[in-house]
Amino acid sequence: MPEEPQENISGGETASTAARFTTSEAETRAEAVVNDLGERYWQKTYGGTNAFESLVRTILSQNTSDVASQPAHDALMERYGADDSDADHDLAAALASAEQSALAETISSAGLYNQKSSMIIGAAERICDEYGGADEFGAFVREEPATAVREALLDIHGVGPKTADCVLLFAGGRDGVFPVDTHVHRIARRMGLAPADADHEAVREHLEADIPGEKCGFGHTAMIQFGREFCSAREPACLDDPEACPLYDHCDRVGVSPESGAVVDPSKGAAEE
Ligand code: SF4
Repeated sequence: MPEEPQENISGGETASTAARFTTSEAETRAEAVVNDLGERYWQKTYGGTNAFESLVRTILSQNTSDVASQPAHDALMERYGADDSDADHDLAAALASAEQSALAETISSAGLYNQKSSMIIGAAERICDEYGGADEFGAFVREEPATAVREALLDIHGVGPKTADCVLLFAGGRDGVFPVDTHVHRIARRMGLAPADADHEAVREHLEADIPGEKCGFGHTAMIQFGREFCSAREPACLDDPEACPLYDHCDRVGVSPESGAVVDPSKGAAEE
């Protein structure tokens, strides 16, 4: 079994535990893909991160790389997080009363800092008003039905489906949640695991329907890693050599033509010869 890489591939700190699931039998092609990824990458289940911090982290990471958002997160925690002398510190309360210009300056490395600082303050205010604070919000995310949690998260300004699903997975530890980021969206449609014109939500619905719940969290992080290593947006490994891609036999290569070297978005159909 491969070891977990040094780099955190899921967009921030995550609480995870090693898990083993069977990779021998698959009822769908999507499950077969995840099984093969399970032979290649570490198998993990997720859950246990602080839900509000997870929410803040995913807002910071919108439209930017982890390299840019991590320093912003660190600076935010340094300025607004707990120090050793305050055991009752509540991050949501601290951010709800933050001055927007000061927060924007603190998170400037993440880009779109005016917009993101407004979203974070707005989310913090809602969480304080509706739940009483970050701890109570964490309990809500862990304990209430996933559909109710997802609906409540999506109702917060700045929270889209991927953010909601990441909070459900990494903080809620929910089985059956397969967040769809840009890598997952591309690979699922290229491989033919979802229709070529499927949007993020439709890809999520296909993957969650076809992959057993206990494999979804692992499938999400492993597919991101696979996208970075083998099936990148512009240079999928099969362009040079079919044998260079370990999932070649599972793949329809929609929008990818090893013959001509052309690569287009799957929604634009087969790559022109
Ligand atoms: S065969 Fe090509 S398009 Fe398909 S998963 Fe592998 S690298 Fe990506």
